[in-house]
Amino acid sequence: MDRNRRIVRTSLIGIAGNLVLVAFKAAVGAATNSIAILLDAVNNLSDALSSIITIIGTRLSGKRPDRKHPYGHGRIEYITSAIIAIIVLLAGVTSLRESLEKTIHPEETSYSTASLVIIAAAVVVKLLMGRYVKRVGEEINAGSLIASGSDATFDAAISFTTLVAAAARLLWNWQIEGVLGVLISGFILKAGVEMLLDPINSIIGLRADSTLAVPLKEMICSFPNVRGAYDLTLHNYGPSQTLGSVHVEVPDSMTAREIHLLTRSIAMRAYADFGVVLSVGIYAANDSSAELTEIRHAVEKLVAEMPEILQMHGFYGDEAQKTVMFDLIVDFSADAPAVKNRILNQLQEKYPKYLFDIVLDSDYSD
Ligand SMILES: [Zn+2]
Repeated sequence: MDRNRRIVRTSLIGIAGNLVLVAFKAAVGAATNSIAILLDAVNNLSDALSSIITIIGTRLSGKRPDRKHPYGHGRIEYITSAIIAIIVLLAGVTSLRESLEKTIHPEETSYSTASLVIIAAAVVVKLLMGRYVKRVGEEINAGSLIASGSDATFDAAISFTTLVAAAARLLWNWQIEGVLGVLISGFILKAGVEMLLDPINSIIGLRADSTLAVPLKEMICSFPNVRGAYDLTLHNYGPSQTLGSVHVEVPDSMTAREIHLLTRSIAMRAYADFGVVLSVGIYAANDSSAELTEIRHAVEKLVAEMPEILQMHGFYGDEAQKTVMFDLIVDFSADAPAVKNRILNQLQEKYPKYLFDIVLDSDYSD
């Protein structure tokens, strides 16, 4: 079954489970005049809503690429996750307001054994449902399902604290429903903020995932003549569409034909093994010049003395033109242009006949 159909099927199971619980809890809440149980029922309703939004979002994000959106519509999934998080936050605010009211003006509530058994059953059903939805979401990397599943697990916790409040009332005649409600609301709000930050970060653009970047670079470096893979960038348009670019360093004696075959093979492996559409750029490495090798060692020594420089790569010089070019990756916390000028001045002083050109690269991936 393809990914989108699995998301829809899992969401449908979530909706069915929630509707059963809504009916159960609303009936019990009305019968016992318990705000906590009624709140719980309302929260179940919003859970079903999150499954409905997941289904709509999945339908939209599965739309084929078109002229206006050539990268597809996969990022709609991030918007779906954000909307679910906002629903959770709204539920948290509502719950907090009503629990505060309940703390200030406590009402007489009565619990029956039957209602407690039903709530206990709801805890178990929610817990199983949440785990199932979350597990499928993690398996197929679907943020909206993970959010929906976390929310369900969270509801199980809410129902559980309702049980605790009831037990305290029945056993010791303590009235702690309002206080517990405030606590639960706090947890809902915290979870909601965390759930909202996840898709927002994906939309802003995150550092490449190391579990993808590191093995991808290893694969590239395993090709003969590749001396290093640098400047790997990865952009994703939804969880199943990743584009990227990389620079590989090869000996300057290679021909266009050899480079063509090499870069084609790398791009094909990147797509076949990692699902990444990869553009491969070339850095040449000097093989024959003793003078340039000496300058390269001098640069390496300078770089090693400066901990704020994370990497030097792409070193290439021309003995006839007396030019040297290389790239530096400077830590985000350091002043990159200042670091560049310091290195530039030292090299210019040591090798006055040469013209140095340093490019500052960004630290995109591990
Ligand atoms: Zn570079």
